[in-house]
Amino acid sequence: MSERTDRGDPTTADRMLPPESPAGAPFWAASRERRLLLPWCVPCGAAHWYPRGFCPVCLGDEIEWRPASGGGRVHAVSVQPKVPFPGVGGEPPYAVALVDLDEGVRMMLRVVADDAWSVAVDDAVSIGWEPLSDGRHLPVALPSDPPA
Ligand SMILES: [Zn+2]
Repeated sequence: MSERTDRGDPTTADRMLPPESPAGAPFWAASRERRLLLPWCVPCGAAHWYPRGFCPVCLGDEIEWRPASGGGRVHAVSVQPKVPFPGVGGEPPYAVALVDLDEGVRMMLRVVADDAWSVAVDDAVSIGWEPLSDGRHLPVALPSDPPA
């Protein structure tokens, strides 16, 4: 997992707090320690995202939370030229991407990049964390340095 630290976000103080469902409680609890946990189905062995009370593959309800590697690749990206409404997003322009995590799940994340327009499909990213005012953290994608 990346050792990079969060970058300051001038909108953090006004950030809308994401609602916390019972199914997602383990995710949010781990986010307080900046740890990414994903729900896995015990019977069929598949990770899934978003959190829910059953497996979307086999409908089994035996879910186990496991640490994620924190790595992934950009599947698709969109640059937002302005904040859609107060409390979301980042300093515009900012990039939002569908990221395929190493565990095989796809997560929508803001990409914290110096140049939002430079984020491209298939870019390697790692998970970073944006602090929320209630102690939880919101996962974001950090562009990985290109291989030397
Ligand atoms: Zn399953």
